[in-house]
Amino acid sequence: MEKTIEKLDNFNGSILIFTHENPDGDGIGSMLALYKFLKKKGKNIDMAMKDELPHTYDFLSNVDKIKKLPVDKVYDLGILVDAAGVFRAGTEVKAKEFMRIDHHREGEKYGDWDYVDITAPSTTTLVAKLLKSWDEKLIDKDIAESLYVGLLTDTGSFRHSNITPEIFDIAKFLVKKGADPVYISHKVFERNKPEAIKLLNKVLSTLQFHEGGKVASLTVRKKFFDDTGAKEEDTEGFVNFARGIDGVDIAFIMIQKPNRPDTWRVSLRSKGKYNVQEIAKELGGGGHRNASGCRLNGEEDEVRERILRVINKKLKEEENK
Ligand code: 5GP
Ligand code: MN
Repeated sequence: MEKTIEKLDNFNGSILIFTHENPDGDGIGSMLALYKFLKKKGKNIDMAMKDELPHTYDFLSNVDKIKKLPVDKVYDLGILVDAAGVFRAGTEVKAKEFMRIDHHREGEKYGDWDYVDITAPSTTTLVAKLLKSWDEKLIDKDIAESLYVGLLTDTGSFRHSNITPEIFDIAKFLVKKGADPVYISHKVFERNKPEAIKLLNKVLSTLQFHEGGKVASLTVRKKFFDDTGAKEEDTEGFVNFARGIDGVDIAFIMIQKPNRPDTWRVSLRSKGKYNVQEIAKELGGGGHRNASGCRLNGEEDEVRERILRVINKKLKEEENK
């Protein structure tokens, strides 16, 4: 972390902060907090991502400043937050050099100024530590709010196995800096659009059990988006309905890309010891032990079978341990 601060403190060129495609609260929160802080430090800074801002996060300050990737300009430094590599931006990012601030396993390395800690429950945890150690007094309410959003969303509201005692210290620090947990929870979790609930209704009817009930799957077909008017971002959190079933250890959702129907975005989730990162890796993706993802091409049934074959292999390996 010291090397990250040193690099940024001395850097006078143009900087682009960016995050992964299908951005979540952790990626967006990290980007916004870092943007505002570096602006206060007088840096020449932009931020960008490939996809639209999910409406869940529209209340955060400076969201109107987020540019859409790809951007023509070639930046002196690109800061990738909350992703294993620049490839996760989902499009080209032009910069002379890169820096990575992240908590994903097995990612790319760009320099000794990277700040990567795979034990961190969220990237915003790392950004909070970085900014606190660099210049604590510059952390204002807006920055604290953005960081709190990432803490909240990446830990499933402080429920997932990635939480550490330290995250409550950081949450306390951010609340003291002005982040309001009640207001933020309301904004993030209690503003579902009617079309998103109509979509959920259809998606729940696709529930299937496999491996004698240990595995559950959900499917979002392109047709569901067409029929309800919901968007891809409205599927956020749907997989948790499958994971939350009693007896289910591994859950996954397959989302057919509305603009590329031969591609499926797969989200994998598990409870406890079951490692979905290994499953996602074998399917060409990655992530964390209890939350991972990948992209697969093909017909619906064939894609589901592929995922189930890898899950079956991993469950057998787990049994034989
Ligand atoms: P989600 O299922 O919420 O999209 O992603 C869960 C986790 O898996 C996130 O940490 C995300 O970065 C990672 N992930 C999702 N899709 C991919 C992918 O296609 N490739 C890699 N390497 N990681 C992914
Ligand atoms: Mn994250």
